[in-house]
Amino acid sequence: MDFIPQMEPWFDECERLALNEYMLSGGWGTEFKKTREFERRIAEYTGAAFCSVTTNGTVSLVIALLACGVGVGDEVIVPDYTMVATPNAAELIGAKAVFVDIDRENLCMDFEKMRQAVTKKTRAVMLVTINGRCPKDMERFVAFCKEKNLRLIEDAAQSLGSACQGKHLGRFGDIGSFSFSAPKVITTGQGGALITDNEELFDKIKKIRDFGREGGGSDHYLCKGWNFKFTDFQAVVGIEQMKKLPWRIERKKEIGQLYEQCLRGTPGIELIPTDYEQTSPWFFDILAERREELQSYLQEKGIGTRKFYPPLHAEPAYGYDASFPVTEEIARKGLWLPSSSRLTDKEVEFVCEAVKSFYY
Ligand SMILES: *Cc1c(COP(=O)(O)O)cnc(C)c1O
Repeated sequence: MDFIPQMEPWFDECERLALNEYMLSGGWGTEFKKTREFERRIAEYTGAAFCSVTTNGTVSLVIALLACGVGVGDEVIVPDYTMVATPNAAELIGAKAVFVDIDRENLCMDFEKMRQAVTKKTRAVMLVTINGRCPKDMERFVAFCKEKNLRLIEDAAQSLGSACQGKHLGRFGDIGSFSFSAPKVITTGQGGALITDNEELFDKIKKIRDFGREGGGSDHYLCKGWNFKFTDFQAVVGIEQMKKLPWRIERKKEIGQLYEQCLRGTPGIELIPTDYEQTSPWFFDILAERREELQSYLQEKGIGTRKFYPPLHAEPAYGYDASFPVTEEIARKGLWLPSSSRLTDKEVEFVCEAVKSFYY
């Protein structure tokens, strides 16, 4: 069997033909009709009223914060367990990322911990629906932020195709953010998207990403903005990827369930509860005893894995002397198994057998 990567982007002749056709059409490359179509498709798929795409999922978070009026000196609450882009987006605009611990059951921000971290300076909460899962009581986050006049930004970079109570993730916050970087569910090489139902926020987003302009081509600047625009090259790829998304989401759910069936009860391994009706796991995650050893063992068998993100507060970039026990524990044990939607059942079974042979 060939080496099984932990994740890989998946393009085929659809993207190749679509790009070829675009190149023959005389397009200028920068965002235009194809980008608007890509945005329309994302809005339709998620059920959001508005969508705006941008250069990547870090910049999309920056734009979301700016559109929400977050700025220098403001505090933004983020989970300690997330991809580093979440806190870094807040820090880029001069705000302070305030870390809180997560709920062990779903690895999302702990509501009580978040509530306790609010100060007079808090302006926004960045809720990360990590790996397509949502917190136990999503509505509590929404109601609390509303009551306290805080903006709720949902970092749904890992949640395209996943829902909570039947509603697509990214739609609970004032703004939801997605990423199309190479390892994500669908990719445009790099890319990000923002969705919202709030027309005023959408209007701000559009201006911030285009120099603050009144409208396309105008040199009248209504607010401070920059160039965070997309390209039609990427949109052409994104449209083809969107066509494949429904299949990929179903396939990832099947793969997750197959992993669960095969691995349940294996000593040394803990599975994180997953509701496959709602969640299409971006990566298949396990908590493993002797993780480092398991990882090298699998590598030798030709199986790629990846460790969970570290507790961000303790990374040199932040260096906070604090303790977030849940994040610390799961970051020590967490391992992502191969998770591409391209995996065959045979490959999943091969991975499971390898994991089991390590522990038995
Ligand atoms: C991937 C990711 C990002 C960053 O997206 P980029 O497109 O790589 O900038 C942000 N947050 C989360 C949770 C992610 O998984």
